[in-house]
Amino acid sequence: MGQTITASGESDAPDTTFEPGCIFCSIIAGKIPSALVRETERIFAFRDIAPQAPTHVLVIPKTHAYANAEQIAAGDPGLAAELLREAAAVAAAEGLAEDGYRIVFNTGDHAGQTVYHVHAHVLGGDPLGRFGTPAE
Ligand code: 5GP
Ligand code: ZN
Repeated sequence: MGQTITASGESDAPDTTFEPGCIFCSIIAGKIPSALVRETERIFAFRDIAPQAPTHVLVIPKTHAYANAEQIAAGDPGLAAELLREAAAVAAAEGLAEDGYRIVFNTGDHAGQTVYHVHAHVLGGDPLGRFGTPAE
């Protein structure tokens, strides 16, 4: 099935902007292996390689176009909402919905953001500690 080109010349195919130096883009492309949890047309969810809780899943858009939550909310509000819906779907599928879970968007250096391809951390499986304390 081919993609549709609209009258304005824009494609209706999902944005799959790829950044060669980005570890998450390489994971989406299958160039770096990952433990897949959930995938839709525009979203990819996989287990964090260094889990900070019994369940720790990263939920990302398949486009590199947005570095953080602020950018995706401003640039594509529908995709931002889908990212949150998929984070909730991951939590439900992982059995976290009843007891609760945390969704985290680290933003910038002081938050410890290391990958500048927007991602939601979904954390749960046990009572979580407090957050926001200074790094040691
Ligand atoms: P940030 O610190 O930017 O909020 O989150 C980046 C996350 O990506 C970290 O929790 C880190 O453990 C995870 N991560 C980094 N490299 C890889 C990888 O190659 N595979 C997986 N599954 N997770 C990764
Ligand atoms: Zn990327």
